[in-house]
Amino acid sequence: MEEQKPNDRIHNFKEVPLGFTEEKAIIEANRCLQCAKPLCVEGCPVNINIPEFIKHIKEKNFREAIESIKNFNILPAICGRVCPQEVQCEEKCVLGKRWEPVAIGALERFVADWERNNMLKSCPECMPPNGIKVAIIGCGPASITCAADLAKYGYDVTIFEAFHTGGGVLVYGIPEFRLPKAIVADEIDTLTEMGVKIYYNAIIGKLYSIQDLREMGFKAFFIGVGAGLPMMLRIPGLKLIGVLTANEFLTRANLMKAYSFPDYDTPINIGKVVIVIGGGNVALDSARTALRLGAEKVIIVYRRSEQEMPARREEYHHAKEEGIEFQFLTNPIRFIGDENDNVFQMECIRMKLGEPDESGRRRPIPIENSEFIIDTNTIIVAVGTNANPVLTKSTPELKLNKWGYIETDEDGRTNIEDIFAGGDIVTGSATVISAMGAGRKAAITINKYLLKNK
Ligand code: FAD
Ligand code: SF4
Repeated sequence: MEEQKPNDRIHNFKEVPLGFTEEKAIIEANRCLQCAKPLCVEGCPVNINIPEFIKHIKEKNFREAIESIKNFNILPAICGRVCPQEVQCEEKCVLGKRWEPVAIGALERFVADWERNNMLKSCPECMPPNGIKVAIIGCGPASITCAADLAKYGYDVTIFEAFHTGGGVLVYGIPEFRLPKAIVADEIDTLTEMGVKIYYNAIIGKLYSIQDLREMGFKAFFIGVGAGLPMMLRIPGLKLIGVLTANEFLTRANLMKAYSFPDYDTPINIGKVVIVIGGGNVALDSARTALRLGAEKVIIVYRRSEQEMPARREEYHHAKEEGIEFQFLTNPIRFIGDENDNVFQMECIRMKLGEPDESGRRRPIPIENSEFIIDTNTIIVAVGTNANPVLTKSTPELKLNKWGYIETDEDGRTNIEDIFAGGDIVTGSATVISAMGAGRKAAITINKYLLKNK
């Protein structure tokens, strides 16, 4: 797939991969062997009929291709861009054993873009309204999927979202250069065309409790509030000016559009040298955003080695091409401020890998007397997130696990009969496609529950 050149793209927020042309998509589709037992489908968390949609592309039947995908996945333009296909469908593709696997994600993106660009996107058909009110809390991928499916069954669905816009991490976390926000906005428009009402700036647990919503006539609840509470390091200097969490930084840059300052009224202060701590997608998104906001040098500091980095390979490759530096096997031990409390240095220690820990990855161990200093002006901490307790605290009878995530059975039922949950608030930080899968399962369970309790 053609991409913007690294030297150009670090000066703009436009998407990096440019997508297949029709000709290239057909050439790529022709590589698919149409396996009788397609292993790629087993690798897809929502079991898209991959050979079927690729066959339609081969035959230039793009409309049939997109319809085939949408039977399994309602957000293909999003998943085609951000799903970690390299560890899902593409990892299983038989061609990958000797050659490059079929570029399944890029083909999914191609047909979804073809549908949008040709204005052929249509509103899914919904059953006649049954007047039963369902409340969906949060508007990320889990909730969007659950709301769309319930609207198709004919329910009167209302989403309550804390932010002023919908999409969850898709809009406040993942940057524009990986996922253009117009694509997410388009999906939210489809939801409203289907009759789903969205109530923004509504923090459930503060504005209303679930009990308040019950009293307003809602008969079932889906909680899809994600896991947006940043984890903090326990080291000195966290309160210095110039030390940010990745959530705060990315929310300002993406959702509040700081990258378009002064067109948007959100200033962001980026120093010359930015250090990002962490090794996941969030760390890489922060680093690449900082570069585009004008940092002269961006360094990622990660306590394990390159092999253990959980970030998508594609993002790591793009970050390296863009000149981001990596300090592997390195851990921060303190942030150092000047007389005005502005951060200006970070002290680190070198690490080595020991035995595997409970995550299966080798545990990093500090190497004695290996401390050193890096000069910096901005530090972004991207070491993970936890469950946000705002909603769960206001519903104390809801059963949580020891980390504060909601406990459900595999169909999304919580311990409270009319409350269902899915996505990151159940699993901890995971993927867009797994959140969507949970939203779909919960919609089926909610439908069964409401049919039984009419
Ligand atoms: P979220 O997307 O977190 O949405 C939850 C929504 O609920 C939010 O809109 C929030 O404002 C709202 N909310 C929270 N509390 C309340 C409340 N009390 N009342 C009302 N509303 C509330 N996954 C991938 O597959 N590929 C990637 O490349 C990728 N990159 C990522 C990059 C970043 C920077 C981050 C942070 C995550 C990334 N992920 C990626 C993970 C993925 O985005 C999440 O797993 C997914 O979005 C979870 O979906 P969700 O619907 O459970 O929650
Ligand atoms: Fe095509 Fe690869 Fe799937 Fe076989 S495994 S059907 S070659 S995409």
